[in-house]
Amino acid sequence: MSDRDAIAQAWEAVVATARRTAAEGLVVGTSGNVSARVGDTVLVTPSGVPYERLRPEDAVGVDPEGNQILGELAPTSELPLHLAVYRNTGATAVVHTHAVHATAVSTLVTEVPTVHYAAAVLGGTVRVAPYARYGTVELAENMLTALRDRTGCLLANHGTVTYGATLDEAYDRTAQLEWLCRVWLTASSVPGRSPALLTPDQLDEVGEALKGYGQRRRG
Ligand code: 13P
Ligand code: ZN
Repeated sequence: MSDRDAIAQAWEAVVATARRTAAEGLVVGTSGNVSARVGDTVLVTPSGVPYERLRPEDAVGVDPEGNQILGELAPTSELPLHLAVYRNTGATAVVHTHAVHATAVSTLVTEVPTVHYAAAVLGGTVRVAPYARYGTVELAENMLTALRDRTGCLLANHGTVTYGATLDEAYDRTAQLEWLCRVWLTASSVPGRSPALLTPDQLDEVGEALKGYGQRRRG
């Protein structure tokens, strides 16, 4: 496949993923943003443009330093956050949302309580990055600290960030994280009771087991 075709195909997938975040209720309006890396080009959703309006010719691309190399629309305001993930991990895709339960939990705790083994999908106990204004380098730095040995974190009073080897993987991690936060909020809202939590050892054990989860690849 030519570089041009690879970029066109990746842009289509970025737009489809961004639309999915809105369709599945993880963002409202133009909140959140999505990116994917193709070689040295990082494709990102543009700032403040409704996802359903995005067409093939609207592709926005930057180089790893953040210089715009593709498209006319201004890139997402969270460019520092996306680029920080690519610079510091092997990620090929990043998804940022304002999912309701995850955002609510980000206002209550500094780590998501381990009420379910789904936390292991993100590498272990999910941390909450301290608050900084959206779009700032400070927020990107806080996020990187929270992401150490994890594939996702919460941003205090703001939302979620997850990454993966594909857009589907990054998206699925966001969905799992939102679900985990919803379970904790549900369980912890029962008056007079507090949910039992998994221990770090129990989560590590799940992390190991998940390496063999699903269908084995055949020959
Ligand atoms: P953009 O529209 O600039 O991507 O911003 C949305 C957002 O979620 C900022 O945190
Ligand atoms: Zn945001």
